[in-house]
Formats: sequence, C-alpha cells, structure tokens
Amino acid sequence: KLQDSAAVAQRPLDCLLYGIVGPNTGISSQFQMLEKARDWGFKVPTIAKLCKTTTEVFDFIDYWDVHRHELPYETDGVVIKVNNLQHQDELGYTAKSPRWAMAYKFKAEQVSTVLNEITYQVGRTGAITPVANLEPVLLAGTTVKRASLHNADQIEKLDIREGDTVFVEKGGEIIPKIVGVDFSKRDTNSQPTEYITHCPECGTQLVRSEGDAKHYCTNFYGCPTQITGRIQHFISRKAMDIEGLGGETVELLFKEGLIRNYADLYILTKEQIVPLERMAEKSAENLVKGVAESVNIPFERVLFALGIRFVGETVAKKLAKAYKNIDALMTASIDDLKAVDEIGERIAQSVIEFFQNERNLDSIARLKSYGLQFELSKDKLLNQTELLKGKTFVVSGVFETISRNELKKLIEDNGAKVGSSISSKTSFLVAGDKMGPSKRSKAESLAVPIISERDFLDMLN
Ligand SMILES: [Zn+2]
Repeated sequence: KLQDSAAVAQRPLDCLLYGIVGPNTGISSQFQMLEKARDWGFKVPTIAKLCKTTTEVFDFIDYWDVHRHELPYETDGVVIKVNNLQHQDELGYTAKSPRWAMAYKFKAEQVSTVLNEITYQVGRTGAITPVANLEPVLLAGTTVKRASLHNADQIEKLDIREGDTVFVEKGGEIIPKIVGVDFSKRDTNSQPTEYITHCPECGTQLVRSEGDAKHYCTNFYGCPTQITGRIQHFISRKAMDIEGLGGETVELLFKEGLIRNYADLYILTKEQIVPLERMAEKSAENLVKGVAESVNIPFERVLFALGIRFVGETVAKKLAKAYKNIDALMTASIDDLKAVDEIGERIAQSVIEFFQNERNLDSIARLKSYGLQFELSKDKLLNQTELLKGKTFVVSGVFETISRNELKKLIEDNGAKVGSSISSKTSFLVAGDKMGPSKRSKAESLAVPIISERDFLDMLN
C-alpha cells in the first residue's frame, strides 16, 4: 500500500522466480524451466528438488519442516508440481487453481493469549461475523489483536467465552485463526457465550436460514453498515475502481445524507462535497471526476459492482459473457441461469432475487441513464457467434495451427461450453497430437464423436 517509491526501496524486498511462460521455449519440464531461468541470470531458489517417488517428496517435506528456519526468508510450505509440461497441460486447471501443483503447508506456529471480548461485524450483504478481540500477542512476526470466529457454530464448537485463554494460529492465510481454548485456565464463574439475537448496527432481529452457517440482518435497505458496505464494494478496485473516493469518504457522504445508494454517487456535485470535513476544492474535484470517469468501466465489472450475493468477479464475467447485456440477464429464468457453466442453484436463485427487487431495478435504471456500461463492449462482441450454441467440447492434446487456449476461446466465443472431462453430456472431443489414451477410450465408450482440429475449424466456416 506504500505509494512512496523511495520508502519502498528501503524495504529488503526480493523476488525468486519459479517458471518461464511463453510459446516455443523448447522446455519440456518444470525442472528444466528452473535451470534455464537460472542460466539466464534470474534469481531461482536453489532448494528445488526433482523427486522420482512420493517417498522422496515426503523426505523433502520432512527435511524442510525442520530446516526451513535456516532459510534467508520465511516459508509456510512446499509446492509439489508435476514435472512434465505436457502432463501439466493435460491436467489443466480448475476455476481456481492448477491440477498439476499442490501446496503442502507446514504445521502453523501457535501461541496462546486472552480473549478480551467478542464483537460482531455486519457485512455488506447483512452477514454477521463474530470477531475475537485478543490481548495483543506476537505471532509469526506480526502482532495479532483480532481473529475471525466465523459464525455461531464455530463459537459453540470451540465453546469459546470472553476471558478464556485461547490458542491462536497463523497458517497460510493472512487472518489468524483461533484453534482451541485452554480449559485449564478457564474461570469457574465463566458462562457460555450467548450469540447476539439482534443486529448491532440497526437492532433488527437476526435471521438464520436452514443450511446457512451465518446469521443475517435482513434490514438490507435500512441498516447503515450494509448501505455503506454496498457502496464501498461498488467503488472498490476490482469493481468500479473510482479514483479519489475511499471507504471513509463513503461513510462521511452517507452520514451527511448525500448518498443513500451507489447510484447517488453520480449526481454528487463539487459544491456539496467541499464544505465537508477533511474535504477541499481539489479533493472534491477529484472525487467528482473519478465518478464521472467510471462510466467507462466494462459491463462485467459493473455487474460485479452491483453486489449481487454470491456473484463474485469470476461469476460476473461468466454471466456477462453468457448474456452479453443486462436486459437479457434480468429476464433469464432460473433454469436458463443454471445452464451457464459453473452457475448453480444458489447463485441462480440469488440473481433472480436481486432482479425482483424494485430498489435494485430503480438503481440499475438510474445507472443506465448516467451512461454506465450495461452490455459487453463492441470489441468483446466482435467475432462472437452462436454457431455452436448448446454444445460442449472437451479439448485434448497439442494442436498444429492454434494453441489450446485459443481453441478454447473460439469454442466459447461461438456460444459453446468447454468441458473439463468427458461425460455423456460431451458433444465432441477435439483431439490433437499426443492425446491421452484414456481420454480416447472414454470418448469411444460413451460414443462421443472425436474430431480433429481441422474438423473443428470447418464447423465455424
Ligand atoms: Zn442491521
């Protein structure tokens, strides 16, 4: 977060490299990649090892679990990767991570401290998160004062109470975690924690639906924290990325009655902002300018910014691509939504509910009138057809005239889906060179047509 490059230069930052990416590198394995990068003069870790068996992998892990403290940097685990790049390509990726690499985390450092108080935070969707306020304690190089307790079940499971001595861990995550209570130190008068029944911000009675771990404040349009939380999400970097406007200013503008929802941002004037606390001519000008410029932010990010529950960045992209504009999305049925790749019941239901709400429809109509992007940009729509609509393709092997990723993009741009494995729902298997024999026999047993790269390209002409 430091903006001063001179200050950043003072920090002992370093960078170690693990891979080379590019076409025709002539490299066929992960290990070769490291060696080549080292040859070229990049800083590459010296302790990588090429293992032949899982026993060797575990020996490596056990060794570094003990000796990692001797390294000149801190590390919390080991990454195990498939060495052969061809195999990596075959394995591919899930939505979130590669299937050919796996992290092994060392047992986290643990300390004990006193839990002073449990407080409750209200998120932008109304979800309540209990927070443990701890007696500050040093853990893995940082002072820990707070930890998330997640939900009521977690509190009950740990039987955690104010005044308890608790064990805190910091694993791979940045946020520390409470893993248990030191019952030997519990005060004999201690009483079980009673979870709150009403919203700490607006006093509304909390609701917990079946199958949901969290309690919710359902006063979505009246609970101040939810209102500001939604606006803060709207302006955040990955959403509308409005320059000159930060979370605290949103709270201030709300407190002063200048904004009640994100659409109100677009009618703010400099004259309204200048008189506010900590504001000046220049900052007010920047704010209004930042808001005005955000009308160019592409549709998929506007969709993410709207704050539909369960619609994160990736889902917003999928929906934008599938529906191409907001009007098509707004009229989609639940079954239609569920047919989109990676959209399940929970997300589909949430999208439907969002567009049934009059206030949301009103905000969208206003945002449209202010010129925000509610359809995919022209260049994204270019070359998109529905030639392959309703079909699912699985891609395997190496191709001659096109890369695997270009091929997948062509499939999606022409209205079809890319499947990750062959099933009875697969329409075609596009087979390249060196395709795995198991894929071929699976396709044959399910009578899935196997086509060549040429056959596929012909479909588009
Ligand atoms: Zn509330």
